Amino acid sequence: MQQVAVLGATGSIGASALDVIARHPDRLQASVLAAGSQVEALLVLCRKHRPAHAVIADEVLFATLRDGLRDAGLPTQAHAGSQALDDLAASDACHTVIAAIVGAAGLSSTLSAARAGKRLLLANKESLVLAGELLMAAAREGGATIIPIDSEHNAIFQCLAGCKDAATLSRITLTASGGPFRGRSCSELAQITPAQAVAHPKWSMGPKISVDSATLMNKGLEVIEAHHLFGVPCERIRVLVHPQSLVHSIVDFIDGSSLAQLGLPDMRTALAVGLGWPQRIESGVGSLDLLTEGGRLDFEAPDLDAFPCLALAFCALQAGGTAPAVLNAANEEAVSAFLQGRIGFLSIPDTVTATLDAVPMQSADSLNTLLAADAQARVQARAFIDKPATQRKYAHA
Ligand code: NAD
Ligand code: MG
Repeated sequence: MQQVAVLGATGSIGASALDVIARHPDRLQASVLAAGSQVEALLVLCRKHRPAHAVIADEVLFATLRDGLRDAGLPTQAHAGSQALDDLAASDACHTVIAAIVGAAGLSSTLSAARAGKRLLLANKESLVLAGELLMAAAREGGATIIPIDSEHNAIFQCLAGCKDAATLSRITLTASGGPFRGRSCSELAQITPAQAVAHPKWSMGPKISVDSATLMNKGLEVIEAHHLFGVPCERIRVLVHPQSLVHSIVDFIDGSSLAQLGLPDMRTALAVGLGWPQRIESGVGSLDLLTEGGRLDFEAPDLDAFPCLALAFCALQAGGTAPAVLNAANEEAVSAFLQGRIGFLSIPDTVTATLDAVPMQSADSLNTLLAADAQARVQARAFIDKPATQRKYAHA
């Protein structure tokens, strides 16, 4: 029986993961379920999946979790706090860890699972953006197998099918749906509301990644993610907008072959690949029929004027050091402020640009340096966000 820890169990990826796990009671068991602060939703999941351990990151909610588990008559042990999350991710309670916490908050438990040599199903892309080199080194040293749970990187993982020689890849093409505002000009984006931004045309996802998809920052984070996962320099990573979201990415090899992975846009496929690999297991996702899906696959270059976040991410990757950590932190702060209605859509790239300009880049020699850069970037980003709207317009250099 493969014991699986689902970190971020109450989220969108968490729900998809638990759906796949529940389809395979003979081989998969959700042994650890963790959430940030949604304790009632976590209790509902515990009643359904009966894990050995449940963790709520927000320590204030420990008693609610403990009492709820007891009242439901469950044998599940209650835990709270990020240290408990890190400890359980590294413990014998699980063989596989699904890292599906959103944002930099997921870094510590992801690193912990990597160091402990787990099978790591990595959805938390922000941890790779923030500390990609350290995370990949921790996985190497700990003997962890990372299987990316981002549809594009999972596609590339499948195309590579175990080939680890980055020298045989001539290029990676990450596909992007283009988000809900594809084809709009910069000026048309000024009045976008949070409700419009989270309504993704193809994927059903949590609010933060939905906004990232709307700004194309998601694709920018994915470029950085691909660089670390597959050891490919940024000059050999390209992004193509593919509105049908059926081709999940393409790998060009040095012999002229190009391999792509296709499928319906449903994260359960990537999760089933991660849970079953190297075997294929059922995911609940139907087969792709290109004719019923419209019979066309279109591709176009992204519009970097309307969606500057993608270019900002390429610049941060090229700059290296702490720049991707700063980009990520500024973006998290800006997206959070946008979702709260405190800044407009176009202030997201402005906040990231202003923060990258304000925080000096250093070499990313340790986790402490990266965490300090993350903290400094958040202070700068919040200061920018708190300015009156008229002073917030940032002149892009
Ligand atoms: P979500 O907002 O739906 O869920 C986030 C989960 O993280 C929740 O369970 C929440 O309780 C938990 N969480 C939040 N803060 C926490 C904290 N401080 N400590 C512990 N847990 C905390 O997000 P999502 O869409 O499921 O995305 C999760 C991650 O997967 C993100 O990094 C995202 O970029 C990545 N991802 C998501 C999708 C998708 O289709 N949703 C696709 C690719 C990658
Ligand atoms: Mg993706």
